[in-house]
Amino acid sequence: MERLEGRRSLWPLEGRPGAAKQMATKKRFFTADLHIHSCLSPCAELDMTPKRIIQRALAGGLDIIAIADHNSCENLEPALRLAGKMGITLLAAMEVASAEEVHVLALFDSLQAALGMQEKVYASLPADLENDPAFWGEQVVVNEAEEVLGFNSRLLAGATGMPLNALVEAIHALGGLAIASHVDRESFSVISQLGFIPPGVRFDALEVSGGKGVPPCVEEAGLAAVSSSDAHRLEDVGKKKTRFLLDGASFSEIASALKSEGGRSVVID
Ligand SMILES: [Zn+2]
Ligand SMILES: [Zn+2]
Repeated sequence: MERLEGRRSLWPLEGRPGAAKQMATKKRFFTADLHIHSCLSPCAELDMTPKRIIQRALAGGLDIIAIADHNSCENLEPALRLAGKMGITLLAAMEVASAEEVHVLALFDSLQAALGMQEKVYASLPADLENDPAFWGEQVVVNEAEEVLGFNSRLLAGATGMPLNALVEAIHALGGLAIASHVDRESFSVISQLGFIPPGVRFDALEVSGGKGVPPCVEEAGLAAVSSSDAHRLEDVGKKKTRFLLDGASFSEIASALKSEGGRSVVID
């Protein structure tokens, strides 16, 4: 009885006029680098283990990161566990190459959704092409303790069979966000491959990486712009970043910020 009375006395406090205002003012900026490759990507350095990436991100003051390997997310599970232990928000991600060789950064709310994407990607990679480590580089699967669990034998560096629009829709079908990678680069970007951003492709944001400001194509598209390092070496983690004004560090908050919902916003370097 005593406890019930205590609880009742809280209701007037929660419902008082100032409460909504307090909720609205608790936003703060979170610094994010949403495009980092681990040692699973053939072009990344071998010391890009999830553990060292997170250590580097924390040392650089990042709040949110995403490890986005080429066409695979086999280092994601240990990375998520480590992120929880080490105190950083890590989003499930992958960088998928469309049939046109357009790189698309896919962000997901869960490991399960990312694994669902990986299944689709693996099914659409050319079955007869294997990685040549001497040419492309090793594709290393590691655990939390940086021990090598194995090597991915697929040719992860190549294009999938998914046309761009189908790829973006597949990401959305799994509840993910589709961000056009490094649109200002001269290779593997939607601009370099297609010459323009097709209006029918429902990107959630465009990533710029060149440090030359926001290119006109991004302004014209009317989409949020993010900036990420696309780090393949530890020293590049956090070199480019995005500041998100959010209520908290999470996938759903970032999804809302890309749509400028509820006072959330996105600021690039
Ligand atoms: Zn890329
Ligand atoms: Zn990349």
